[in-house]
Amino acid sequence: MKDLAVYMIGPEHRTFSLGVLKHMLEYEDCIDYAYIPNTNESLGFDRIAEEYTRHAIKHYRKRFTGSILSKPLDAVFEHELYKRTKETIEDNFYELGFIGDVEPDIIIMSLSTPSYPVGRILADVYKEYFPDTPIIAGGPFFKDDEEIERLVDSSKIDGYCIGHASSLSRFLQRYRNKEIRYSAKQGFSGDVDGLSGFRLKVDSKIVGDGRGKLTILKDGMEVPYTKYDNIVHMNIFGISSCPHHCSYCSTNKQKVSNGERIWRKKIKEAYEKEHMPVYISILDDNPLMYIKKYTKLLERLRKDRVEFLLASMFVDPFNLVNNYNDVLAFLSGYCSQDSKIFIGRETHDEMIAYKMGRNCFGRHRDQKILDEEYQRIKDLINYANTKHMFDSGIVVAYILTPWENKRTISKSLEEWKELTDLGAHIVFYGLTPGFSTRLRKMHRELIRDVNPALYYRIGSFVSTPDNLSYDMLKDVGRVFFR
Ligand code: SF4
Repeated sequence: MKDLAVYMIGPEHRTFSLGVLKHMLEYEDCIDYAYIPNTNESLGFDRIAEEYTRHAIKHYRKRFTGSILSKPLDAVFEHELYKRTKETIEDNFYELGFIGDVEPDIIIMSLSTPSYPVGRILADVYKEYFPDTPIIAGGPFFKDDEEIERLVDSSKIDGYCIGHASSLSRFLQRYRNKEIRYSAKQGFSGDVDGLSGFRLKVDSKIVGDGRGKLTILKDGMEVPYTKYDNIVHMNIFGISSCPHHCSYCSTNKQKVSNGERIWRKKIKEAYEKEHMPVYISILDDNPLMYIKKYTKLLERLRKDRVEFLLASMFVDPFNLVNNYNDVLAFLSGYCSQDSKIFIGRETHDEMIAYKMGRNCFGRHRDQKILDEEYQRIKDLINYANTKHMFDSGIVVAYILTPWENKRTISKSLEEWKELTDLGAHIVFYGLTPGFSTRLRKMHRELIRDVNPALYYRIGSFVSTPDNLSYDMLKDVGRVFFR
């Protein structure tokens, strides 16, 4: 068996995920050496990312700004900034630390959507130095879509991993055992069959399909953390699942009790290794779903003298209806000024809730629940305002669906105006259900493939809740729906 050296590249703040991935690959015994360059320095990456963003329309300082996709991918490649950044990286590749002590046998890139163009730059430059080394890309939003195909087709990336990274370890094991080989001329060859979750360039064609499985943190894996002079900082991602089973959502399935056991173990390990207090930031969690268990978890952390920040958390409006006072007590007791609160309103209309599968314990939310939820959302915003609770305010998200009509959109506009006046920030998303969700199977014919021409038009969209109109929203809807 050959030793395998990998370079793991994560432009745009993905170094944390790469740290987890590195430990996972070491744990599964499929790599021998990993080099992760520090790409968190600015290097102009963030500016390029701004040229290329998509997904949501955001409300910012009383304006809605269309940022679904400011520019199609091909246009970003022609941008002056893209060219200049590429030149800078080419000229200073060693100095910027992109090359480690050992030459790579394979290069892995973790890209989030805004960093696709940067991934292309880095793939180009790495190939100048290591033409015979394959480059595999992946990331949280990699799926079967034209944009990814375009990125891979137009770049020196040799293959990509769809969905979660567990299939990467199977691929690396085969590559390390030479069951899969690579040549610059022909791409991959050998045992490339049955690698679900992988697409590879073979004879200039992209082959393979499927989706990888969710990677769950295991006892033996290490979790990366940052060491400061007298404290260790660790990021912890959502550990609670959700019982509502909305058709468009794929939430993680980890139970609070499992998540807690593993995270407490990781915190203890870091403490014992570094002999310093551990400070954790809890990100993107859903603590109100299991409020009693979660409260116990946080109390145990306090007892262990672990400081924590609930950095970003979801508030399901049903929790506000069901146990409003407990929610207020939780938010006052465990959140801080820096906590970011995100409420998924999604829709106000019973029929749309039914069609999109906006559920509550597996059944769709009826009009009575939806109306009560709205009232409670307003109560919470008012309460937070009175108590000056969250510096960055509360975000309320809506989903634009193919079933909107004049009435539903007018009602959304009314709600947005009312909530904006109360000081909330509104975000609306197009309904783009993730792969393998039930909704995607049910309504595949309604979901539009990426259409850069339409994105481009919406890119110039700026409005306020006062003059945002039905026609404008229909226009936005056309980007997402047939
Ligand atoms: S309530 Fe939110 S997190 Fe839970 S299943 Fe529905 S969309 Fe997903």
